[in-house]
Amino acid sequence: MTVRPADYCPDCGTATTTREIEDRERRYCEACDRPVFQNPAPTAAAGVVDGDSVLLVERAVPPGVGEWTVPGGHLEADEQPAVAAARELREETGVRVDPDALELVDAELLAPFRGKRAVSMVYAVPAARAEGAPTAGSDAAAVRFFSRDEVEADEDAFRPHVPDRVESVLDAI
Ligand SMILES: [Zn+2]
Repeated sequence: MTVRPADYCPDCGTATTTREIEDRERRYCEACDRPVFQNPAPTAAAGVVDGDSVLLVERAVPPGVGEWTVPGGHLEADEQPAVAAARELREETGVRVDPDALELVDAELLAPFRGKRAVSMVYAVPAARAEGAPTAGSDAAAVRFFSRDEVEADEDAFRPHVPDRVESVLDAI
């Protein structure tokens, strides 16, 4: 499987062709005689909620440099989603939470970005169950809490899916 349409087979490197399989146009490796499926990459995010505010990070690395988003990232191959969400939160903000304290809020397929597809599992946790002062860590230029009103007032400052995500995180706690 690949997260973007595969021009080459990831197993043998042969240029792929296209076949209609299961009513979808799919990439196909003639050498391996099988489809090269495109599937979304799993990611996980953790929203720390303090009253009517959520902790967000300003992205320092592509994609979306300068955009504010809920801390999160890709799962490692051997990692449970809640563990990944807690790890990404710690790496990006310095804030520590027990993965067991994270409440699953949502699981959604994100809009394609340069052909890449990802699905995000979104967790929430009250600030009272988190430890450490937020400081910008890896991949983050800045971190701070945003209120619901601040996010609604300036939606262009955020990645497109973030305002709705902030809503659902706040509503979950
Ligand atoms: Zn192949």
